[in-house]
Amino acid sequence: MRFSIAGFPVDVHWSFLLVAALLGLQSNDVRIILIWVGVVFVSVLFHELGHAVVARRYGLHPEISLYGMGGLTKYQSGRRLSRARSIAVSLAGPGAGLLLGGIAWGVTQIPMPELNPLGRLALFYLLVVNIFWSILNLLPILPLDGGSVMRSLVHIVKGRADDRLPRQISLVVAVAGGVAGFATGNTFAAIFAAYLGIMNYQALRGLPMPTLPGMRG
Ligand SMILES: [Zn+2]
Repeated sequence: MRFSIAGFPVDVHWSFLLVAALLGLQSNDVRIILIWVGVVFVSVLFHELGHAVVARRYGLHPEISLYGMGGLTKYQSGRRLSRARSIAVSLAGPGAGLLLGGIAWGVTQIPMPELNPLGRLALFYLLVVNIFWSILNLLPILPLDGGSVMRSLVHIVKGRADDRLPRQISLVVAVAGGVAGFATGNTFAAIFAAYLGIMNYQALRGLPMPTLPGMRG
């Protein structure tokens, strides 16, 4: 499914709707599953739009894809942002999500006796999904948004584009998240953390070993 929103091309892969529906299958009411899938779709799209809007301000031409486990905003290659601007683009996604979650929370505070239970459920899902998705994406684990911010900060502090420390931090946080997820019986979180941990471990192995001064003789 392809469409355009606010001038950004959006591509929705069937796997996105499938994964969202599978996550909503705890309910046997098809209306509740449809509301859940709709809320996940709107929330992930809104997150990506946050990235896209800020990236466009910096002269990029973003394209949004929704697939499998989430969303991705691709940027026109050949143009590099400064570290400060790339931090701003990374933070804009979770920022948009927290904004939408905050609006949903605000609406739940308005007394609406005529609102039916499904409408209330949609608002509740909108609040929970946006807060959860924003906080998850802010974790300092590559390739999540928080990981990109952490990597840019490490580059600023070190004064060079060294990815070894950002990958090590990502690995440690992912392992800690996996252990915490497993210990609290949150299997989904544990599997997701393990997946991110393996990605970072492999990326770390692929990086050249740092050479100490004098080691080359
Ligand atoms: Zn993001």
